[in-house]
Amino acid sequence: MSQYHTVIGLETHAELNTKTKIFCGCKNEFGSKSNTNVCPVCLGLPGALPVLNRSVVEYAVRMGLALNCTINGVSHMDRKNYFYPDLPKAYQISQSFVPICENGFVEFWYDGQVRRVRIERIHIEEDAGKLVHAGDRAEETYIDLNRCGVPLIEIVSKPDLRSSGEAYAYLKTLKAILAYLGICDCQMQEGSIRCDVNVSVNKEGEALGTRCEMKNVNSFSAVSRAIDYESDRQTELLKSGESIHQQTFRWDDIKGKNYLMRSKENADDYRYFPEPDIPSVFISESDINKLAETIPELPNAKMIRYVTEYGLDTKEAEYIAFDQSLSQFFDECINTHKYPAKSYCSWIMGELAKHLNASQKGLSQTRLTSAMLNDLLDAVNSNVISNSAAKSVFEVLLEKGGEVDSIIAELGLAQISDTKTLESIAKQVIDNNEKTVQDYHSGRSNALGFLIGQCMKHSNNKANPVKVKEILLTLLG
Ligand SMILES: [Zn+2]
Repeated sequence: MSQYHTVIGLETHAELNTKTKIFCGCKNEFGSKSNTNVCPVCLGLPGALPVLNRSVVEYAVRMGLALNCTINGVSHMDRKNYFYPDLPKAYQISQSFVPICENGFVEFWYDGQVRRVRIERIHIEEDAGKLVHAGDRAEETYIDLNRCGVPLIEIVSKPDLRSSGEAYAYLKTLKAILAYLGICDCQMQEGSIRCDVNVSVNKEGEALGTRCEMKNVNSFSAVSRAIDYESDRQTELLKSGESIHQQTFRWDDIKGKNYLMRSKENADDYRYFPEPDIPSVFISESDINKLAETIPELPNAKMIRYVTEYGLDTKEAEYIAFDQSLSQFFDECINTHKYPAKSYCSWIMGELAKHLNASQKGLSQTRLTSAMLNDLLDAVNSNVISNSAAKSVFEVLLEKGGEVDSIIAELGLAQISDTKTLESIAKQVIDNNEKTVQDYHSGRSNALGFLIGQCMKHSNNKANPVKVKEILLTLLG
């Protein structure tokens, strides 16, 4: 085992899906024509005054509550000063000194156990514009300022993550929580979640190493790759006796490499100071309580519950828990206490998942209800229909809904359990397969299976296979 440990902290930026931007009435919308959702405020024109959007505060507080943070009754906006062509004001309005939420934690299931990652802070800030390198000539760069002033929350973790796999699980958990709360579109390809990744490596038993940062990594798998790359790079340096310098990199995921942006950067470089144009942000205890009531049981808690209480495996638990409508459906099924959780789970992971994947739909776009699934399981368990017939009924339930009994009748799928009918089929099969019957009597184990299969075929798969077997055994003596 390696004597070097990797320590990871993540700063996750999530774009909030409020109707308007953080400090003005411009539409907060992805994909509009360039530079159409802009006004003097988000363009940073002289004299324009920002007004904080109340929804942004509420969304941030809800995320803070979901991540078990302390909500600060009074927080402030601050200016972070730097120049970049996509930032016309030459400063970003953010929160430096007193963030809106701090000292939280998030728990999630990883590697066979509950892991807890501490959250240092969540603060609100505005996004910058976007540089577009898409001119006729390669050297042309365009600026689209539609994204200027789009609200962001930045979720800063403590350095509690230990591997790229764990970081990946943490990010998936944050994404699922944002989706549950309905405060972020979570469209990775539109950049609605982006990460700054901090990695350090230290020798077992020694103090934490010097950290390096990788900026603006825009997919979870890229975060994973960037961590592995950076951890290997630092480990190799340490092994050869060199030391690590604090540096900031740009991760190029296509090349799988880090490029140095700058060395040694700290908060002083940004000359943070309190934003003079926006008053302090006040949130009352009663407002916090009201917002707390809007928070449902969250996907990470559901996932842990599904694994520990119902014995689902990690993959099943995640698939169901991280999809709000699936988990609602699963919880409804479980709460009827009719069948074991595992039998509902196997329908969800099997036929339902197959259907949803193929049709690119969510459960809410189908007609299926938990009551229908229970009726279907009743029909299978009382031998009215076979398992394979049940799959055909399930398809109809998804597409059109309806009564399980009438679908079975319409499709002519009812199982044949009548002894006389099955006996006559079995007799015919025995007469037509003398050779196999001889094989059976001479002890060939697969002969019986073949005869059962023939009976099923003769009945168009409607024969009750358990009864067929009983009858064959009696007739064969
Ligand atoms: Zn604006």
